[in-house]
Amino acid sequence: MNEYIKTLVDAKKLDISLQPDRWEFDENPYVISGPCSVESEEMIVDWAHKMKKLGVNALRGGAYKPCTYPITEEVGSNGWKEGLREEGLIFLKAARQESGLPIVSEIMDAKQITDRTLECIDIVQVGTRNFQNYTLLDELGKLDIPILLKRGTWGTIDEILGAVERILVGGNEKVAICLRGVVGMPSYRHVFPSIRWAPDLMMIPALKELCDIPIIYDPSHSTGYRNFVPAISRAAIAAGADGLIIESHPNPEKSISDADQAISLETLKEIMESVR
Ligand code: PEP
Ligand code: MN
Repeated sequence: MNEYIKTLVDAKKLDISLQPDRWEFDENPYVISGPCSVESEEMIVDWAHKMKKLGVNALRGGAYKPCTYPITEEVGSNGWKEGLREEGLIFLKAARQESGLPIVSEIMDAKQITDRTLECIDIVQVGTRNFQNYTLLDELGKLDIPILLKRGTWGTIDEILGAVERILVGGNEKVAICLRGVVGMPSYRHVFPSIRWAPDLMMIPALKELCDIPIIYDPSHSTGYRNFVPAISRAAIAAGADGLIIESHPNPEKSISDADQAISLETLKEIMESVR
């Protein structure tokens, strides 16, 4: 870490206190879970109830989905085109209303910051692809809403802190960093084809040494393979993460996106028991 960033971190005392009613960290890991994508109203509302019952803190569900292949991944016949988009947000709002759980969902562009969007999302997720979308980060800095900033798959420690700073200087201090795996895992792919990223566990103690920003670990995208999600969840908490964001689904193999990494309710329950 260069001296300049360290001074910034110290000077600002990047001590953020997130809204207690929506984002409260205690000694228990803050667990966010739900499907990669919102697939239907029925599905997300039903899953929200199950998440609530399990003691999950917040429900995730992607409405705007940045797909690697925008055409090839255009699946389903119910209007799903890189997510259910506005309709998906309305379904998330219904899920919040029914379950009382706060909603975590991604927005991909500053243009998507509208009253309608913010009515449906409690914690705005910045996806890995937008980690250095400075226009978006600057606009999010003007809001008073928690931001879950996912690390770019290429992001250095300076780039992580710089992106956080960009949101903080706007006046929004409710930022958490989400580590979700980085480039560099080709040695596994011939045996485990869905593995795309390398878990970035060492960044947890590294960031903890420098600042007091909550760290949420994503064992789903960082492994890409459901069988590895429990082990990496436990490892992240052991390494000092404040919480986890885990993709779960009523029928994991049938998930509309990221099916290989989705876990069942049962597995999620086991993880919750092992980290709490
Ligand atoms: C997601 O959370 O579903 C997602 C797209 O994550 P990432 O931006 O880390 O790829
Ligand atoms: Mn996903």
